[in-house]
Amino acid sequence: MDQVDVVIVGAGAAGLATAIFAGRQLPGRSMVVLDGSRRPGAKILVAGGGRCNLTNRAVTSADFNGTSRHIIRNVLAAFPVEQTVAFFREIGVDVHEEEDGKLFPDSNQARTVLDALVNEVGRRGVRLWPEHRVTALARGDSGFTLATNRGGLSACCVVLATGGLSLPKTGSDGGGYELARGLGHTLVPTTPALVPLVLDGEFHRPLSGLSQDVGLALAVEGRVSVSTRGAMLWTHFGVSGPAVLDISRHWHRAQLDRQQVVLTANLLPGEDLVSVENRVIELARQQPKQHLRNVLTSWLPARLVDAVLASLGIGGQIPLAHLARDLRRRLLSSLLQWPLPVRESRGYAHAEVTAGGIPLNEIHPATMQSRLCPGLFLAGEILDVDGRIGGFNFQWAWSSAAAAGAGLRSMFGVP
Ligand SMILES: Cc1cc2nc3c(=O)[nH]c(=O)nc-3n(C[C@H](O)[C@H](O)[C@H](O)COP(=O)(O)OP(=O)(O)OC[C@H]3O[C@@H](n4cnc5c(N)ncnc54)[C@H](O)[C@@H]3O)c2cc1C
Repeated sequence: MDQVDVVIVGAGAAGLATAIFAGRQLPGRSMVVLDGSRRPGAKILVAGGGRCNLTNRAVTSADFNGTSRHIIRNVLAAFPVEQTVAFFREIGVDVHEEEDGKLFPDSNQARTVLDALVNEVGRRGVRLWPEHRVTALARGDSGFTLATNRGGLSACCVVLATGGLSLPKTGSDGGGYELARGLGHTLVPTTPALVPLVLDGEFHRPLSGLSQDVGLALAVEGRVSVSTRGAMLWTHFGVSGPAVLDISRHWHRAQLDRQQVVLTANLLPGEDLVSVENRVIELARQQPKQHLRNVLTSWLPARLVDAVLASLGIGGQIPLAHLARDLRRRLLSSLLQWPLPVRESRGYAHAEVTAGGIPLNEIHPATMQSRLCPGLFLAGEILDVDGRIGGFNFQWAWSSAAAAGAGLRSMFGVP
């Protein structure tokens, strides 16, 4: 049985970064990163549409959900965005900023990010063993024993960086949760997050491919509890796009809690009933013969206008002067609160992240060491943290990996 100082389970963003931080701080220690898949880092390659949005110019704990914003804040503060940018520059990846503060590699290729991480792991003397799936993990008096599909291994310390359940074809299938539970950890129930939503009915079908700016509101038990603003993409199954992805985790959490949940879209974001009604009244005064459809198509895509009018049974050829008050109200209220009858989400297979996971209060935030099992560390998405769209989830991977690296250093008595 191979014996090493540190085994890192999972060679995704968090595992590779932990290997680098630990390798830099503990030269000479034997360390190995195991990954069940043949090509580790697959999620980095697909991220950000293949360009890898690796962090954001402005990251705060408010960009995340999870058991403890306080702990998230501490972990982020110990390795903030500036250090992430410097870290990537050191390993040969310069970044640039795009809309909403998103930072991408200058190459615009995720491959650059993955290659730089893997090369630096090798330079630091940490071995990377693909096709090594950890099937069992136990702690004895003198450390940990691990079973893999290729034989056993023993280690003084183990880092679990096995991710969540999203995009399971990349190797992240939730197996790490069971390894952590076997060592005494609990699990905050998981749901998909940053995931497209499937709608009931037929309204969305003819709109497939249409993207528009919307405001989304999620009412839980009759009260709007979350709202997002941004692009929404109509698809053959329902809706997607950043505004939808960001709100999807809240829909799932409400479902999990068996709460009544209603999602609506403001198709005229920034407007309310008073402002938009005033606009229509003013237009009716200035251009009484103008047809309703013409007005609406100057505000919204024609395909959407036709679908809305048909759905409400309103004729588009009504001149504004003939638009009765009740009808005007019904139309405008509908546009401001268009129902999105969510049946389900597209599930983990299409989710960018997993909400839920190992609770943060079961780790020491300065080191990511388990409070329940000394010598065990956790980093990345396996923990109960999920960020909104825009590079935040990777920032969590880098920051938690940096803390785990520091934790391993202190474990081996290096001041
Ligand atoms: C399509 C898509 C696009 C995304 N785009 C972005 C983006 O642009 N910006 C952003 O910030 N975030 C993005 N994300 C989210 C981001 O990719 C994840 O939050 C991040 O990769 C999580 O890193 P991780 O290392 O914790 O887990 P993962 O990347 O899931 O890595 C876990 C690794 O552990 C391995 N593993 C699991 N179980 C075992 C086991 N038992 N034994 C051995 N190995 C095991 C898996 O094979 C995997 O390689 C995206 C996600 C997806 C799916």
